[in-house]
Amino acid sequence: MTLSLLDQSLLERSVLRNSTLPRSLVIGATVASRRVTVLFATHAAYLDHLAGPRHPERPERLQAVLDGVRLAELGDALIPLLPVAAARHDLERVHPAEYLDRIQGICAAGGGRLDPDTYASPGSWQAAILAAGAGLAAVQALQDGQADAAFCAVRPPGHHATTDESMGFCMVNNVAVAAAALAAQGERVLIFDYDAHHGNGTQAVFFDDPRVLFVSLHQWPLYPGTGHYTEVGEGRGRGHTINIPLPAGATGDVYLHAFDQLVAPVAAKFEPTWVIISAGFDAHRDDPITELGLSAGDYAPLTRRVLSLVPAGRRLIMLEGGYDLEALTTSAATVMRELADVTGAAIEHATSGGPGMAAVQQVVDHWVRDGLL
Ligand SMILES: [Zn+2]
Repeated sequence: MTLSLLDQSLLERSVLRNSTLPRSLVIGATVASRRVTVLFATHAAYLDHLAGPRHPERPERLQAVLDGVRLAELGDALIPLLPVAAARHDLERVHPAEYLDRIQGICAAGGGRLDPDTYASPGSWQAAILAAGAGLAAVQALQDGQADAAFCAVRPPGHHATTDESMGFCMVNNVAVAAAALAAQGERVLIFDYDAHHGNGTQAVFFDDPRVLFVSLHQWPLYPGTGHYTEVGEGRGRGHTINIPLPAGATGDVYLHAFDQLVAPVAAKFEPTWVIISAGFDAHRDDPITELGLSAGDYAPLTRRVLSLVPAGRRLIMLEGGYDLEALTTSAATVMRELADVTGAAIEHATSGGPGMAAVQQVVDHWVRDGLL
């Protein structure tokens, strides 16, 4: 089965007829000599989550990511994976039953506003449990040896959802549900969140949990206002949360410096057995609601470093934010090619020289002072 996913009903929906694929982009990709395979999971039901007209978290984002998959030209290295809805017991590792019942009930009653930014439509519940289910299905497929890595293009996103609070366009914390399932099996999970916003929900779920190392690089100050570098976890989870707040304009070299100086040594001690990336592409310089300075090209070395922390077959990427459609396409293409270990001309050049090195040093100093590094 090759690329059939790109022909399934998802693409036939009228909302997706106008492709955002930049026609000027032509990539000469070279597939690695060792055959590396990548699962790609998405579902037409993700289009039925409607946050309202002019809301940045809109169905067209999914088509932009699909355009990126096509742009990556992975050929038969790409293996489609159709998600199934997450089971209640999987969701309840993260969210209390009463919370899930409430969201499900609001959707069944026609939808409504969950917080100032977050709306539920009648289709949102099914989309949300299929989004969480995508991560679980990808984990299972990887454990079955079906591929080397997986990318889940899901909506709604999840990293702002706490155990019992919907916020920031998120209802069910997709990444947390996957990480909790792995932790329950005895795995040690590193979650790397490079969305421009702090992954407050994921942090809250695992703040005192030593089985999960949560890492977030995000713009500061910015919504939701959490993610100060002094937030390092608590109790047995102390030293298992890394927050790297960055100034507006921070470039790719700053991200790599932060990874090398802080994330890599902490990860070496943590010894993760799985990596999950919360892949928000709103740190791209073209994003309309943030001010960071990345290009699509920056996601290549950053993603490569993060994935290298664990062996193939234990690498999962789940979509979070990203609101410029062309940036979503080029960034997703870049990340898909990293997952497949494809070399070739960069879609966009990596960036450097922006602010943020001093901010990273401040975080490193804090970790050294606290005896955590
Ligand atoms: Zn975001």
